[in-house]
Amino acid sequence: MTPKVLPTSARVAPASGESITLQGFFGIFRYSRRAIELVWSTNRRLTLALAVLTLIAGVLPASVAYVGSLIVDAVVTAIRAGGGDARHVVEFVALEGALVAAIAAAQRGLSLCQSLLRAQLGQRVNVMILEKALTLNLSHFEDSEFYDKLTRARREASTRPLSLVTRTFGLVQNAISLVSYGALLSHFSPWAVVVLLLAGLPAFIAEAKFSGDAFRLFRWRSPETRMQIYLETVLAREDHAKEVKLYGLGPRLLERYRDIFRRLYKEDRALTIRRDAWGFGLGLVATLALYAAYAWIAVSTVLRAITLGQMTMYLALFRQGQAAVSAMLSAVGGMYEDNLYLSTLYEYLETDVPAQAGAALHGPHPEDGIRFEDVSFTYPEAEEPALEHITLHLTPGTSVALVGENGSGKTTLIKLLTRLYAPTSGRILLDGRDLAEWDEQALRERIGVIFQDFTRYQMLVGENVGAGDERYFEDEPRWREAAAKGMASEFIDTLPAGYQTQLGKWFKDGRELSGGQWQKIALARAFMRTRADILVLDEPTAAMDAQAEADIFEHFRQLAKERITILISHRFSTVRMADQIAVLDRGRIIERGSHEELMQLNGRYAHLFALQARGYR
Ligand code: ADP
Repeated sequence: MTPKVLPTSARVAPASGESITLQGFFGIFRYSRRAIELVWSTNRRLTLALAVLTLIAGVLPASVAYVGSLIVDAVVTAIRAGGGDARHVVEFVALEGALVAAIAAAQRGLSLCQSLLRAQLGQRVNVMILEKALTLNLSHFEDSEFYDKLTRARREASTRPLSLVTRTFGLVQNAISLVSYGALLSHFSPWAVVVLLLAGLPAFIAEAKFSGDAFRLFRWRSPETRMQIYLETVLAREDHAKEVKLYGLGPRLLERYRDIFRRLYKEDRALTIRRDAWGFGLGLVATLALYAAYAWIAVSTVLRAITLGQMTMYLALFRQGQAAVSAMLSAVGGMYEDNLYLSTLYEYLETDVPAQAGAALHGPHPEDGIRFEDVSFTYPEAEEPALEHITLHLTPGTSVALVGENGSGKTTLIKLLTRLYAPTSGRILLDGRDLAEWDEQALRERIGVIFQDFTRYQMLVGENVGAGDERYFEDEPRWREAAAKGMASEFIDTLPAGYQTQLGKWFKDGRELSGGQWQKIALARAFMRTRADILVLDEPTAAMDAQAEADIFEHFRQLAKERITILISHRFSTVRMADQIAVLDRGRIIERGSHEELMQLNGRYAHLFALQARGYR
């Protein structure tokens, strides 16, 4: 088995690739401390109860075995004394009954605490994950490896941390039991204790090794697992259903899904078979040891070295001791997986997010507007720059249209302007101040953007408009005002519940809108940002007809007297209305000027314009 994706995962897994060294073995405890801290800080009382009950449940079984021996001896003594007096026997039986009831109570209590903690911890971890997500940069979400971490962290957030804690406690509980069995057993012979432990040891080591293998296997596979999750989404979600059905992609994608499973299953099967074969072989050693000890104890009883009661006790201790050892084995197996999860969780939570250092609320020259000064930008891990040597000046009250083929860098330019990314070289100034120096909040308030892939929230119509300004998310009068400016109020008024209409198909009574209607909502959203004096329209009107787009842009210009309007469009009928037009080609501005100037230049713009005009003639 050669892990194809090793280079990637090697980067993801800095500290988890060790083989079965001592350190590797103790690796199963690596995250136990953190998991316990997490649980402790989630609910102290429950954690404490969990610890106490674990202790009780650990000690009680040995005492039951001990009382069992007292019962048998009391019976034998009573019979020898001629019978008739069973008082002691009954007392001991009652005591054993009480102890067994106490074990049951402790175990119930344990599962109660675990259920309650599981709910609280699941919520806590999910909130931690989402809170972190709020602080991340766009580049994080566009990084597949990182996205992988996020997905994995979210997937098992509600079960893994508690599982690790439960298993750690379970391990402790069984260890306590084992020690108490050992203490009693040592009265028979210290060698018996040695046999008990040694018989379990090979299986224990093998389990740790195979769990370690499984752990690494899981890590290697993560890209494949992610592909499976993705395929599930494509096959089973409403927004993909339309295309998947029409193009008949379903069976093919399902086949891919199956393929991945088959590949993973093959590896799984190999590991599982090896694991179980070794488990069986080494388990046989333990059984042999048990029966050797059985014979030894029985012979000792026949030779009268120990009483009948002691014999029952030692046998019980031996059996239960082995059960404890195998319980510990399975706990160890599970702990590796839990560790895997927690390592992902903490890698994700500890992702470095460079602090946005800026604090400026104003710039020295508000009349200067936006300046790109020799800006170049390359996406992380991309080979070609997406933008090269961009120089551009936009003063308040003017509009600029960006024109260029798909992939020429128009959207990237907007991402830089909104500081979703920082330029690789050069700088961008707003009001005469470097964007990097601006306070994040102040900067965001200045800019209203509608991206071509704007979000269609499955919420109320009004909230979809209100999303433009978080402070007024639920403010109906402001929704109405913004919708009127965005030319959306007309159709919103025809909806059954007006602004209170639920959108999208995920929820009850949700309405689906046409592409153009959605775009009007998005435009209205931009008008919620009353303080924004830079408006960016990244092809948000592509789903409207040419006339509607031209109307809207004109309307925008009217309303945007003191604003800077940046428009990305493929329609020259709209583009020509802009004060300034910049033609981009493979990340560079190749032509710049007004419509008239560029027509006169008779270059790329004039060529494209003529091409489109011919289409309309
Ligand atoms: P446009 O908006 O003009 O269609 P973009 O600005 O979206 O073009 O893209 C410019 C170039 O940058 C393209 O070559 C594209 O492949 C690349 N690109 C866009 N987004 C990313 C990204 N998130 N990561 C890497 N490369 C990207």
